[in-house]
Amino acid sequence: GAKYGQFKLVLLGESSVGKSSVVYRFIKEQFEEFRESTIGAAFLTQSVKVNNEKGEEVTIKFEIWDTAGQERYKSLAPMYYRNAHCAIVVYDITRESSLAKAKNWVSELRKQNSNNANKNMVIALVGNKSDLESERKVDKLQAFEYTREEGLLFFEVSAKTGEGVRDVFDHIAKSLAES
Ligand code: GDP
Ligand code: MG
Repeated sequence: GAKYGQFKLVLLGESSVGKSSVVYRFIKEQFEEFRESTIGAAFLTQSVKVNNEKGEEVTIKFEIWDTAGQERYKSLAPMYYRNAHCAIVVYDITRESSLAKAKNWVSELRKQNSNNANKNMVIALVGNKSDLESERKVDKLQAFEYTREEGLLFFEVSAKTGEGVRDVFDHIAKSLAES
């Protein structure tokens, strides 16, 4: 029969790095310059079809928790990443502090997952705003090296132009379909 799986995905990262914009681009294929910032967290779903290693088509339904990056919501984060099958940790390539923050999220996820069942969480590090190349502050190779050491997926994307966004979700879906 048709193969189908439902997976909980959480978005984490400093405020204003573009988490909501990335999700909006993925789901609606659109970008809004002046979106309202997320309060607490928003819940969205979207399905993608991928082929697994046997060449069978698998539908992966993402249950997406788009969290707010503000410090005042930080204590709520475990509610969203607990039991998550995958996480997208976003930083802004024009803001160095946002990569440091992303690395903190990765450690927090790793710590959390070492004491629970969901040990093979798929984690993707995503550098957003690649359209702002002239304002780049985070070296791509350096970020990539970090993800290689940590065993994370790595992407640079632009929610504004859409470049690379689809790839992130397709790759995650593919890893989930094969696990
Ligand atoms: P969040 O707080 O991480 O959810 O970030 P938002 O999605 O609310 O975006 C924060 C700001 O960054 C908004 O003003 C967006 O218009 C802008 N933004 C988001 N993604 C991009 C992008 O890919 N390129 C550019 N130039 N701006 C972006
Ligand atoms: Mg947001």
